[in-house]
Amino acid sequence: MICSNVKIKDGVLYFGGQNTVLLAEKYGTPLYLMDEATIRENCRNYVSALQEYMGQDSYPLYASKAASFKRIYEIIGEEGLGADVVSSGEIYTALKAGFDMSKAYFQGNNKTDEDIVYAMDNGVGYFVCDNVEEVDAIERIACEKGIVQKILLRLTPGIDPHTYDEVATGKVDSKFGTAIETGQALEIALHTLECRHISLEGFHCHVGSMVFESSTFTRSAEIMLGFMHELKNNCGFVAKILDLGGGYGVKYTCCDPAIDIKENIKGVCEFVKAECQRLDYPLPSLRLEPGRSIAANAGMTLYTVGTVKRITGYKNYVSVDGGMTDNPRFALYGSKYTVLLANKASEETTIECDLVGRCCESGDVIQPNVKFPNSVTRGDIVAVLTTGAYNYSMASNYNRICRPPVVMIDGERDYVSVKRESFEYLTANDV
Ligand SMILES: *Cc1c(COP(=O)(O)O)cnc(C)c1O
Repeated sequence: MICSNVKIKDGVLYFGGQNTVLLAEKYGTPLYLMDEATIRENCRNYVSALQEYMGQDSYPLYASKAASFKRIYEIIGEEGLGADVVSSGEIYTALKAGFDMSKAYFQGNNKTDEDIVYAMDNGVGYFVCDNVEEVDAIERIACEKGIVQKILLRLTPGIDPHTYDEVATGKVDSKFGTAIETGQALEIALHTLECRHISLEGFHCHVGSMVFESSTFTRSAEIMLGFMHELKNNCGFVAKILDLGGGYGVKYTCCDPAIDIKENIKGVCEFVKAECQRLDYPLPSLRLEPGRSIAANAGMTLYTVGTVKRITGYKNYVSVDGGMTDNPRFALYGSKYTVLLANKASEETTIECDLVGRCCESGDVIQPNVKFPNSVTRGDIVAVLTTGAYNYSMASNYNRICRPPVVMIDGERDYVSVKRESFEYLTANDV
């Protein structure tokens, strides 16, 4: 199996030690499952690696856009992570979970004045500033409130993670951040240092997602430290924090490589330490921002099979009771997933089918070309693995379909962490 929390016993699929067919019966489908032990283990890998190889004041931030609901902020808070938040809604959710907002980092390329006020009023520790308009808005609002706001500046080091190459334009022309190459990063840093209501704590970059090579991180660290060194020579400013963003990949199918996060972080930390020594730059504390690699393999989605359509000589369809409303990732990105029948997990898979949802939209495909047992029929339980990240958080009510619940597995125990949406909820805002 692609992940150690998934097992097959007596032909039935188990997740986090629990029988998925019984869970589907107990809670109904579609159903998001999350395994608390896996979330915690993923968190601990990051926390311990950063502490061990970088020092006590370095810590990871959970990029909560991957899966944002109250319970997950409680768990990551208990594990000692900070959190990336990207909207007032995520800030609200973290607050409701009692999250320590001094460890919240407010990301995003277009924070409104209302967002900025809301974040400041609720004690968000850091703003990760994307551009000069935002710096000016923060300075103005912090001045009105008589506070000094800590920020990081988001820069674009000009790296394309998908070729593991630098490209002259590529990421320099991203909608996020301020480019180093064009000289605008130096300008914005010098400008920020003039702001009396802003404390510039350091620099941030995030080069992309599904990265399997730590060379992507070491190369961006090299460019970021080069920039920080240049700024120090220019005006004497020394940054306290270097935030290298998120993006470590996960294994969705057996074709994806497995990645040893701890070893990778060790390599990145050793590189940062060596580079700081070479440049004679005081060692900053490090942040990493994993989202997918905390949540993805801690999740699984269960569906019930409805229609099985065999179009003789053409193709086969297996339709389930969810779809792009609970998992839009294939529709959006052509994302790959591992799929199996939870109640027939040991049966030989002999027919190829497109696994499709129930939405009125032919693009509503969860995964094409899935191999199922020939006996696949109405009432079978389909499991889609590794759905913990960017599924619940990207879910919609298209076709007025209720979002599924998120049920957490905790060893022998299971509990609801997000309830299934009701029809009343669907019309709650209709007047
Ligand atoms: C999305 C995002 C992350 C998390 O990326 P993953 O690929 O889920 O690890 C981290 N930082 C920023 C700024 C992001 O936008």
